Amino acid sequence: MSIKIQPEAIASLRGFEMPERLGFGTVMAPVMFRARYQDGRWSDGELIPYGPLALDPAAKVLHYAQSCFEGLKAYRCGSGVGLFRPERNAARMAHSAQRLCMPPVPETLFMDAVRVVVAHCAGLVPGNSGESLYIRPFLMGTQPDLSVTASRAYEFYVIASPSEAYHPGNMRLWVEREDSRAAVGGTGDAKVGGNYAASLLSISQLKARGYDQSLWLNPGNRRTVDELSGMNFFAVMDGALHTPALNGSILEGVTRESLLTLARDLGIEVHEREIDIDDLLKLVASGTCSEAFACGTAAIVSPISELGDSEQRYRLAQAPGPVATQLRQALLDIQEGRAEDRFGWMQMV
Ligand code: PMP
Repeated sequence: MSIKIQPEAIASLRGFEMPERLGFGTVMAPVMFRARYQDGRWSDGELIPYGPLALDPAAKVLHYAQSCFEGLKAYRCGSGVGLFRPERNAARMAHSAQRLCMPPVPETLFMDAVRVVVAHCAGLVPGNSGESLYIRPFLMGTQPDLSVTASRAYEFYVIASPSEAYHPGNMRLWVEREDSRAAVGGTGDAKVGGNYAASLLSISQLKARGYDQSLWLNPGNRRTVDELSGMNFFAVMDGALHTPALNGSILEGVTRESLLTLARDLGIEVHEREIDIDDLLKLVASGTCSEAFACGTAAIVSPISELGDSEQRYRLAQAPGPVATQLRQALLDIQEGRAEDRFGWMQMV
């Protein structure tokens, strides 16, 4: 596939001034990638100036949420710019698309799109540890038609945001026993907007109670831990690392899989299993579970200081604990080029 670079895109890059404060995901790079799908085939891609989309008000995405997205980062890695395991994001996006009856973005199109955006925005990748160019590919059904059927027209975009490290701090989690973010047989293991919309009410209610994030339970049994709204969950018990096994309602995080690999490599015992919430709370209370943390592309590894369940508060003895600290550093050292890339995870742009 060829990619047309619009002269206006180059002009908008030249005119861009990087603000002093970046925050996370709030400053947008001045260019974006677009490809269209119609009549069973993808158009050539284009690099165009960042700007509002023209969407028909009857576009399927606006009514039936036929859209999915990804999140990955480009890092300053040694003297160049590197992407971390982007092929896993391409594969996950194809899985999400298929779940919503959308044409999967071919891996080559996904990779070419991400690479062209990162190559043109290389000067916008900030350089302090934990900072990055956050990349957001997304796909949506654009056919203007109110029937509840799959769209026949789609648009695929890649936008990017130069970002500071996202530090949620020591997080307090609320055990969500009422709502579910995704149903059994639903879309929990796909990265689709509806899952996030379904998590917002819980988050806004728990903030009023002084918590930061919901800890979602499995929607089928309402007894075992699934994950957070945008991160996977880990607990350390007697020095071993435990995380919920993938079960169809958990998003398979790239960071989760990478931490499991790093932990095994560092000689830490690892268990992927069902974690019963009541057992977990007892083990936190007794001190057997000494630390817990969440992980994701944005949050990297973020310690959990407390679990709240009805009137009870369960404090973790160590936040951040030694295992979270060691794994976070090991991951960043590879992403930022300080350690040998011994698993072949980095792709330089
Ligand atoms: N779970 C959910 C629901 C998420 O949105 C994310 C962020 N993509 C994660 C877990 C972590 O996934 P990753 O490590 O690939 O960012």
